[in-house]
Amino acid sequence: MLLAAPMADAAAPIQDEVMARAAVLYAGRLAERIIDRDERFTARVRAIAEVLVAQARRDYPETAAWAWEVHTTDDPDQNADCMAGGKILVSKAYVERLQLNDDELAMLLAHEIEHATLHHNLKEYEAAIRMEPAWLQRPFIELEYAVDHDRTLMGKLAETNYAQEEEADLEGLRLAWRAGWPAERLSGYFRKMMRASDSPRRSKADYPSPVQRWRAAQAVAADLQKK
Ligand SMILES: [Zn+2]
Repeated sequence: MLLAAPMADAAAPIQDEVMARAAVLYAGRLAERIIDRDERFTARVRAIAEVLVAQARRDYPETAAWAWEVHTTDDPDQNADCMAGGKILVSKAYVERLQLNDDELAMLLAHEIEHATLHHNLKEYEAAIRMEPAWLQRPFIELEYAVDHDRTLMGKLAETNYAQEEEADLEGLRLAWRAGWPAERLSGYFRKMMRASDSPRRSKADYPSPVQRWRAAQAVAADLQKK
């Protein structure tokens, strides 16, 4: 429908559309991998995710109706992500490389869950349209592809992505803390990430450095511990 839409009918993507597309892409990613091979690891991830998702459903009522899904992969090129609508994929290779305990794994998952609850994908598309309004005249799937592949657009979105990473760290820590995890133990995830990094002090245009993330998490944790 969007393909043939005249200019007057062109519309920015909405959350329902972003979630529907994410579900299709997620199914495709699952289909091209061996998933959930390690039953114990998958059960461990799901048990932790279940508690966090239950908390998210309370804190963000709209997400209670989402078809949340959690799968694992052995893919060494993945770490963890949560697509729009609560489609989670966690790499066992990443969790093992960082030797995450359950508290730290909860922080990793909570960060990813917050990307979804905070509509970060939708907001990224909206930011792209603000900077390049011509996207409104093109099919949404082209914008969806461009935010991850068009270097010029990605450069323009770097600041948005950077802010979203900081927000997911902060709100993820708070989410897991509300779900019952001690804040200081959650922040341990960032220490392990920093120690595993080849360049812990290097920030990217779209990503704070591991050192910055660790410091920020410590500050948030110290604040939460007082409550
Ligand atoms: Zn993130």
